[in-house]
Amino acid sequence: MRRRVIITGVPGVGKTTVVTGALKILEGEGISYRTLNFGSYMFEVAQIEGVVKDRDEMRKLDKDIQKRLQKLAAQKMAREEGNVLIDTHASIKTPGGYLPGLPEWVLKELMPDAIVLVETNEDQVLLRRMTDETRTRDIEGSYGIAEHQQFNRAIAAAYAMVTGCMIKYITNADFLLEKAALDLAAVLR
Ligand code: AMP
Ligand code: MG
Repeated sequence: MRRRVIITGVPGVGKTTVVTGALKILEGEGISYRTLNFGSYMFEVAQIEGVVKDRDEMRKLDKDIQKRLQKLAAQKMAREEGNVLIDTHASIKTPGGYLPGLPEWVLKELMPDAIVLVETNEDQVLLRRMTDETRTRDIEGSYGIAEHQQFNRAIAAAYAMVTGCMIKYITNADFLLEKAALDLAAVLR
């Protein structure tokens, strides 16, 4: 049975690392997933159109441009075959407010079996962002990070309402990456 799982989490929570760990566990069991990065699909189009130079500039674009790129990305990902794990965000913190990462028209393209929220304590997220040199992370305090994680839980409930999908919270705490990877592997199995 082919499965589609969406994985989300605030920037810097360590989603990609958890995914890598879970896929390694499943590899030994003969279960494979292809990871599709929502941001990369959007960035590919954004670059061709010349609207941005860096993927971290996309969330500063006009909201209607972001929504158009979002829709094109969803349509493209919907055509992918086999088990897929979509790496994205439940909401994007933009200068104008929270942009839903999975509005109805995106969900109806993707129709996920489950949406995973990778979370941890806001102070840990803040520290991880400060030590990540590879990305242009927004400067934000722990209060803002906590608010964003709260908003993501709220909007995830709305996503379940549209699709009937399962919602799973996974904690990616410091020194407990292995536990997070095992929890994700259990969702993907
Ligand atoms: P990431 O590499 O996951 O941090 O994603 C890079 C950027 O892609 C984000 O900062 C957003 O601007 C954009 N992005 C990713 N997923 C979505 C989505 N579902 N809806 C809208 N924008 C998204
Ligand atoms: Mg990532």
